[in-house]
Formats: sequence, structure tokens, C-alpha cells
Amino acid sequence: MNEYPMAFVTAPRRVEFKNRPLPALGDDDVLIKVKACSICGGDLHLYKGKHPFVKLPVAIGHEISGEVIQKGRNVIKVSPGDRVAIEPVITCGKCYFCLRGEYHLCQNIAYQYSVGQGGFTPYFCASENRVHRLPDFVSYEEGALLEPLAVAIHGVRKAEVELGQSAAIFGAGGIGLFLIQALKAAGLSEIFITDILKHRLDTAISLGAKLAINVAEEDPVQTIFRETKGLGVDRSFEAVGLEKTLRQSAESLKKGGICVLLGLFEDPLEITFPVNLFVQREIQIRGSRGYCWDFQVALSLVEKKMVKLKPIISHLLPLSILERAFEIILDPNSKANKVVIQI
Ligand SMILES: [Zn+2]
Ligand SMILES: [Zn+2]
Repeated sequence: MNEYPMAFVTAPRRVEFKNRPLPALGDDDVLIKVKACSICGGDLHLYKGKHPFVKLPVAIGHEISGEVIQKGRNVIKVSPGDRVAIEPVITCGKCYFCLRGEYHLCQNIAYQYSVGQGGFTPYFCASENRVHRLPDFVSYEEGALLEPLAVAIHGVRKAEVELGQSAAIFGAGGIGLFLIQALKAAGLSEIFITDILKHRLDTAISLGAKLAINVAEEDPVQTIFRETKGLGVDRSFEAVGLEKTLRQSAESLKKGGICVLLGLFEDPLEITFPVNLFVQREIQIRGSRGYCWDFQVALSLVEKKMVKLKPIISHLLPLSILERAFEIILDPNSKANKVVIQI
């Protein structure tokens, strides 16, 4: 096991495996035999070569679970044989934000894939502080989804939701489907969700959304105002990354409401926005970046069965057809929700 293959996007819509040496195990690190890695919306931006911050070629895959097979000599939290999910960030531990405990804002933050360690590969090395033990009843395939669940939970915390509020989620991809469950766990009473794909809206309803709005058929802002007696929703979540959904998530808010942005915009400089809404309706728009102590919350919700991971998985596929797996997600006829690669 001196060299092993790792997936890279080398050109738009092109995945290639390159042989890499096994990473050196530091004293605080664990070596993991990767068992599953799911494909994220962020990976799709990379696959299309349209990620706003990352240039090709780049390693891909950051939603990873596996079994610990070796540990550095200072490691005390996990042991070989433990089943874990990986939190794929690298932070410096020394900057202003790290010292305040806000490591997702670290001045020197990097993602494992962006420094050359992707997840579509048989072995992965991570700091013991960035691995989280999975409950026995959670499969590796489900465990890979802890990462997008943590993203959704961070967004819900940024929204400062209150018991009994209403919310609208724009985009029923993986993050949107996790947002439904996290918002329900937080005590929201009424959740609207929008998408253009019927199968995703059906999944959203099965997970507890009150109303799934197909934006190909109706105007979501009008529908939301009709359903909320002309008031709008208390909170909205943008999980697509398009000008249109950004505007809709702001326009569907109740006066004084808060909109949280989770989507990554491929063309951020092309956006026009009705800024007078801020003053007219006293709304707020907030960003939500990654996760910070959110894997722990994700795990406790999964442990207590307040969030289900399995219904989000639509495809389990082998590593050998990774490029095909990306095409499956991009094909609206394939009815893909979350696609998990078994390794
Ligand atoms: Zn992700
Ligand atoms: Zn830092």
C-alpha cells in the first residue's frame, strides 16, 4: 500500500485517478480506511470547472466516512477499529478566530481536498480532532452524510430560529432536505420548500415539509404569502446559488425576517438585488460558512433519531464509475438526491 489512486477533476467534466503516496501519519493524526464518500453540490461546481474559488485540476470528495486503521502516538480519542466520519477542514489553531473558537472563520483555513487530499480514494489521513465516532446503527454510507448535515445545522444556528416559526427553503438538494429535518428538530411549525425537480419535492414532503412548491409551475413568493395570510415566512434559506432564488428568499420573508445564504454562487458578480427591501421590510441576510462544532450537534440529532440520513440517499455506486456518477446527478431524469460512492 505504498501508492494508491485518488480522484481528481482535471478538466471540466473529466475525472481522473492519480497515484499518490500514503500520507505521513503525524503524532496527532489517524489513518482511515475510507468506506464511503458522497458527492456534494460543491463537488459539482468543481466537476463543471465552475467553482468560484478553486481552479482545476483539484482533488475531489470531502463527505467521508471510514474505519480507523492506525493512529499517531498522541491520539487518545479514537482507536483502530473505530467507525468515524471526517470533518474535512484544516485550521491553524493560532489565529484570532481559532483562538475565539470560531475555527470555521480561520484566517488560514483549508479544505483537505483543496490541499490535495480528496475523499474518493482508499486511505485518508486526518487529525484526531477532526474525526467523529459513528453510532453502531449508522452505516458508513449514512455516516458520509454527517458533513452536509453539519452544513445545514450551521445554517439553522445562524438563523437564530424560534419555536413555532415558519421557514422557506429554496432548493431541495441534500442541504435543503437536511434543513427540513434540522428545522423541525428546532421546533419550527411550518416549512415550505421549493425546487424544479418533482422527485426532490416528494422526498421533502416525506421528511416533513408542509408544502413543496414546484417553481416550474408556480411563483413561490406568491404561494408563500398566500399560505401565510399575507405575512411571509420568519426565516428563509437559500441553498441553490442563483440570483432568482436569492431574490425569492429575500422577498418571501416576513417583515423583520432573516434569510440565510448557504448556496455557492457560480457567477456572484452578475447579481442584481432589490436592496431597498432591507430598509422597507427591515430584513436581514446572513451568510453561513461550513461548520464549527456542528458535527457534534449533527451526531446527537442522528443518535436520537431526530434526523434521518438514509432517505436522502438515492444511489449507491462503486468508485470505478465516479465520472458517470457525476453525470447521473446532472441528469434530471435520473431522480438523484444524494449519491454515495462505496469504496
Ligand atoms: Zn459537502
Ligand atoms: Zn486559524
